[in-house]
Amino acid sequence: MSSDLDSVKHDVAIANRVLSVAGLAAGALASLGHVSMRVPGEPDKFVVKGRGLAFDVLGAVRDEDMVVCDLNGFLIEGPKGATQPNEVMIHSSILRARPDVTSVVHVHPRYAVVLSTLGHTMRPVAREGMPLVREPLPVYPNVALVTTQEEGTELANVLGTRQAALLFGHGAVTVGTDLEDAVMNMVNLEEQAKMNWYAYCAAGPDHARIPEEMIQAERNKPRFDDLPHMKDLVQQAGVVHARGAWQNYAHLAEQE
Ligand SMILES: [Zn+2]
Repeated sequence: MSSDLDSVKHDVAIANRVLSVAGLAAGALASLGHVSMRVPGEPDKFVVKGRGLAFDVLGAVRDEDMVVCDLNGFLIEGPKGATQPNEVMIHSSILRARPDVTSVVHVHPRYAVVLSTLGHTMRPVAREGMPLVREPLPVYPNVALVTTQEEGTELANVLGTRQAALLFGHGAVTVGTDLEDAVMNMVNLEEQAKMNWYAYCAAGPDHARIPEEMIQAERNKPRFDDLPHMKDLVQQAGVVHARGAWQNYAHLAEQE
């Protein structure tokens, strides 16, 4: 009989494979990164991809490759031979500092990394990931892997109350209220980074951005499910938000 913990391990394994399907852990980056999620009802524990697996790439991890850790980064349980990821402190420190966060993602996404090294401040140039970069992203100012308690705490302090932060020349972290939220924040952050890279190459470091007033103005528009031609249909269908990209990635990850 499967337990709640087995169910969490399954969902976390799928979310790790989603990062591969989404191209955030491919090629030279295939084994770099991890997703974590708190254990429901036991907020001082979380499930994350283990390290030292026989085939240690995100696209191949299975439910049984997941490990359970505490908020100080210590291993509670896991398969024989597996350890916590070497950057487990990213997860434990952020989950300790942010009770509002259920899930943390860390990968080394190419466009976000190169922009961090260039010192180019991402700004909204496309809708995807726009909310994440309306204010300059916080940057953890060290290329070294986050392996100690002190480094993890410093990263959590840099992140503060934000949903995303960059690690200089190294990677990015995103957080969310569930796995989908945290993973899609990373997908959209890298999409926004790619569009910033295009803008940087086309128009230089002072390229234009979507004006803040325009973003604000949209927030004052009526919701689409309040519009006369949509209202009844949306109520009948019960559709509250579009999740197509996540569903597509999760479906593909289930097949792997
Ligand atoms: Zn890393």
